[in-house]
Amino acid sequence: MLKGNAYKRNNRSDIMDKDFKGTKEEYVKFRKKRNEANRRYYAKPEVKIRKKKYKREYDNKNKEKISEYGYKRRARPETKERIRKWREENKEHLIEKGKEWRENNREYKRKSDREYGKRVRADPIFHKRLLKKQEEMRRNYPERIKEYNKKYHNSEKGKLKYTKHNHLRLSKKYGNEFNLNQEEIKEIFERDKVCVYCGSDNNLELDHIIPISKEGKSIFKNFVVACRSCNPSKSNKDVYVWCKLQGIEVPKIVKELLSIKD
Ligand SMILES: [Zn+2]
Repeated sequence: MLKGNAYKRNNRSDIMDKDFKGTKEEYVKFRKKRNEANRRYYAKPEVKIRKKKYKREYDNKNKEKISEYGYKRRARPETKERIRKWREENKEHLIEKGKEWRENNREYKRKSDREYGKRVRADPIFHKRLLKKQEEMRRNYPERIKEYNKKYHNSEKGKLKYTKHNHLRLSKKYGNEFNLNQEEIKEIFERDKVCVYCGSDNNLELDHIIPISKEGKSIFKNFVVACRSCNPSKSNKDVYVWCKLQGIEVPKIVKELLSIKD
C-alpha cells in the first residue's frame, strides 16, 4: 500500500500509473471504473461493519502511536493557528460546553484539580509560574476574587477553615497558645448560632472574650461567636466595660465561660 504523498499522487487520475499499459484516455476510464467499484464495495453494510471492526482493533492496538501522531499534528504551526481561530470563533459554544462538562464530571474534576495542584507545587518552576498567574488574576479581576471569597467565607466549610486559619495566624503573631481544632470551632458556631452580643446572624466570626492583648488565650473556653460589627468594637476592651458602654447585659454564655476554672 502506498502512503502519504505517494498515495496522493497515485490517486490523481491525470497522472498515470507506471505499470498501466495503454493510452491516457483508457487510464482515466479505468480509474473511473475502479473508483466506482470501490465506492460500491465500501457502501455495503457488511463491509462497513467489518471496516469499523478493523479500525477499532487497529486503534486499540496503536493507541500510543495515534496519540503521538495527534500531538505532532497539533504542534504544527498551521494547525495551531487553525485551532486558535476556531476557538476564537466558537468562544460561546466552548464556554457552554465546558460548563456542561464540569457539571457532569464534578467529582472527577475535583480529584484531578487536587492532583494537578500537588504536582505543580512539587515543581519549583511551575509553582513560580502558578504564583505569577494568581498574582495577575488578583490584579486584573479584583471584583471577581472578592465575590468568590465572600461566597467561600459564608459557606459552612469556608467559615470553619477560615476561622481556624485566621486564629492560627493571630496566635503566631502574638505568640500565644492555640489548640482549637475544626470540631471545636464547629461546636462553638453551633452553640451560639448568632452574635452573642447583638443577635445578628451576618458576618459571624470568633471573638476572644478576654482579648489577646490582656493575655486571653486562643482556647475553647475563651471564644464566643460575634459579628464583624461587635468584634472590632469590643476590640481589646474588658467585656464588662464594653457591654456597659453599649448598654447591653453581659451575655449568659460569656459569664458561664468566664466562671470556668482551669
Ligand atoms: Zn454583634
